[in-house]
Amino acid sequence: MNDKNKIIIIGGGYGGLKAIEKLSKYKKNEILLFDKNAYHFMQTDVYELIANEKDFAKVSVDLFTYCKGFDDNVTFYKQEVDNIDFMNKKVITSTQRYSYDYVIIAVGTRTKFLPSIDGLKEYAHGVKALHRAMYFKQKFEMSLFKKVEESGSKCTPLNIVVAGGGLSGVEISAQMASFAKEFYYNNNFLCRKLNIILVNSSKKILKGMDEYLATESEKRLLDLEVNIKNNVKVTSMTAHDVTVSNGENIPMDFMIFAGGIEPNGLIYKLALEKNERGFVNINEYLQVDTYKEVFAIGDCATLYNKGQFVAPTADVAEQMADVCSENIMNLVNKKELKKHNIKSRGILIALGRRYAVGKVFNFYIKGYIAFIIKKLIEKNYFKKLDRQSKKGCDKIFE
Ligand SMILES: Cc1cc2nc3c(=O)[nH]c(=O)nc-3n(C[C@H](O)[C@H](O)[C@H](O)COP(=O)(O)OP(=O)(O)OC[C@H]3O[C@@H](n4cnc5c(N)ncnc54)[C@H](O)[C@@H]3O)c2cc1C
Repeated sequence: MNDKNKIIIIGGGYGGLKAIEKLSKYKKNEILLFDKNAYHFMQTDVYELIANEKDFAKVSVDLFTYCKGFDDNVTFYKQEVDNIDFMNKKVITSTQRYSYDYVIIAVGTRTKFLPSIDGLKEYAHGVKALHRAMYFKQKFEMSLFKKVEESGSKCTPLNIVVAGGGLSGVEISAQMASFAKEFYYNNNFLCRKLNIILVNSSKKILKGMDEYLATESEKRLLDLEVNIKNNVKVTSMTAHDVTVSNGENIPMDFMIFAGGIEPNGLIYKLALEKNERGFVNINEYLQVDTYKEVFAIGDCATLYNKGQFVAPTADVAEQMADVCSENIMNLVNKKELKKHNIKSRGILIALGRRYAVGKVFNFYIKGYIAFIIKKLIEKNYFKKLDRQSKKGCDKIFE
């Protein structure tokens, strides 16, 4: 008889990897990780990828070698999960059905290219997937190069529209503006006209976030000469322009859409209770209510703490993974489950080279110091995963 606890984790993002780290410590746990990609993508570092400060290898971790680095109780399957048969406890991929004792759904979100906006899906770029972020980075670089080529002749401005004044839209606008400024300045190019237009549907950027962070971020964007258009929405676009809700037509070279997210496709297929935006409803133990052995963590689930919505971040996804892992072990050991008390521990917003603003454990910070703290957090995160991955690599090649 197999006395192992078979745990399937779907999604090797921030939540999924943290759950592996916790659950793999128990030798009786047999962990199967499924991801549709062969790598973990560090979305929090996208701004550095765009600014050429990191290449794709430094914002991703190979999931095969990462899982191999554990003591043989973790296996990675590069397979997209198509559905889950909750009654028979089986995870279904296009090739096979895998049984489980416990399952953790950690599939995150994707950019929601709203069908109501004509041309959006065809012409806009997203950054939530690595291949899209890479494509956008190349496009950005090529556009800068085209301006260099125009030096000496007519110099037309490069217009980049960023739709969405949330965290990712703000970080990307700031990073592109400050990168381009330095690029032109350091290289003495004549043609240096770059316009970044941030289209934001609310009265102020970073809606719902701390007032100080929103105000400081706006100041920084204005210093970087980002043109912020508040209170307007993109209504349609073509390959060359964007129309917004006040009727204005903005000519553009390319547009990044950071104006909406939705749960990854799998969530739509699952016969589970969801909220009006399609995110999985979970209880205070992070289980779905109908099945005690099914947990949902990270961005694909909606989290409340004492009735207050907890905004999804990488940090929150990791905290959810901690609680969920503990509760799986509580179920295994027939112990009482732990109620979560997850709160945001802080947020750091990258606003261009060597500048960030943030709130960490209730302290506000800004400027270079905030940037350094953000860098240190990212570096430590990557180092930990990289060490594990190296261990796996050594095992494979020894
Ligand atoms: C530009 C940008 C900047 C950000 N900056 C910050 C920041 O500074 N700080 C912060 O805390 N957060 C930040 N975030 C948010 C953070 O990245 C997310 O909160 C975090 O990634 C959520 O982690 P997760 O584990 O829920 O999902 P993800 O990290 O998105 O991982 C989900 C995984 O599931 C896999 N998957 C999806 N569907 C399937 C399927 N059907 N079968 C198998 N695998 C599947 C995906 O391939 C992926 O690997 C930022 C996000 C963006 C886009």
